[in-house]
Amino acid sequence: MTNQMKTLAKLRAEPGLWMDPRPVPEIGPDDVLIRIRKTGICGTDIHIWNWDDWAARTVPLGLVTGHEFAGEIVEIGRNVEGLSIGQRCSGEGHLIGKTSRQSRAGKFHLDPATRGIGVNEQGAFAQYLRLPAFNVVPLPDEIDDEIGAILDPLGNAVHTALSFDLVGEDVLITGAGPIGIMAAAVARHVGARHVVITDVNPDRLALAAEVADVIPVNVATEDLKAVESRLKMTQGFDVGMEMSGNQAALDQMVEAMVMGGRIAMLGIPPGKSPVDWSRIVFKAITIKGVYGREIFETWYKMIAMLENGLDVRRVITHRYTVDEFRDGFEVMRSGRSGKVVLDWG
Ligand code: ZN
Repeated sequence: MTNQMKTLAKLRAEPGLWMDPRPVPEIGPDDVLIRIRKTGICGTDIHIWNWDDWAARTVPLGLVTGHEFAGEIVEIGRNVEGLSIGQRCSGEGHLIGKTSRQSRAGKFHLDPATRGIGVNEQGAFAQYLRLPAFNVVPLPDEIDDEIGAILDPLGNAVHTALSFDLVGEDVLITGAGPIGIMAAAVARHVGARHVVITDVNPDRLALAAEVADVIPVNVATEDLKAVESRLKMTQGFDVGMEMSGNQAALDQMVEAMVMGGRIAMLGIPPGKSPVDWSRIVFKAITIKGVYGREIFETWYKMIAMLENGLDVRRVITHRYTVDEFRDGFEVMRSGRSGKVVLDWG
């Protein structure tokens, strides 16, 4: 191993990321060192590239970005048990504390002291990543590195989709980005009846129909009510998943739900947005905010589903080597892609 590595870092307070050579990290007794093979570009990374208000407030300059990865363990801290050199893995990018009530109750994903790799701490857009062994998720042979590199967003999709019982239910998903599309595939996999996914971007809707057995609806040109009657749905949707952060989409979802319907929200509205609460109250709707993945229950469930026929590979639309990272970010920023995966060799 040489002791220099390639990274993609946020070096300046302006749009962009920069290839920046760094020393390979040294690991502590409870860590492992992972040689990165593939990484996924996330919407979060696009915020960091663009250097919007959120990124400028949150991300320290000099940070190595990236949090979606798969690789191989090449070094193990002396306290680490149960992992070995050569083990292929992905991992949870949220580094949790151990002192909060939530952590001590085993609800690790609800720990308020969480810090994210590639956001607050050195990230995975690097040839080597130091990670607490606790966060490592070993990969079975059936899951290759490029699928391993998108388990983080697939986990968001699985966490959202499994928030409510979907068996035999009619499901509405607003927002056909990669996570919405993968959530649709999960909903079908676990036994939903109709899965309707809406967006206003025809490319994304076409991709949704390619990846999953779903009904894509362009709400700019099609009427959701007409779709419902075509499907002989008389009461509305049982479960909603809001993935767009768009106010109009949430309004439309509330309108389209059954009495007593349940909504899981992963999309983040920009700033404060007006909500018609009386309609939510009178329809007796349950709304659940979803953050990250359940550590590690979501990981177990998604790996089991992938081993048992869940297929989301076609959501990956573009593949680049890390030296071509600018092309990868450009296609992501254009909104005309699914997941983009970078190869680190
Ligand atoms: Zn992500």
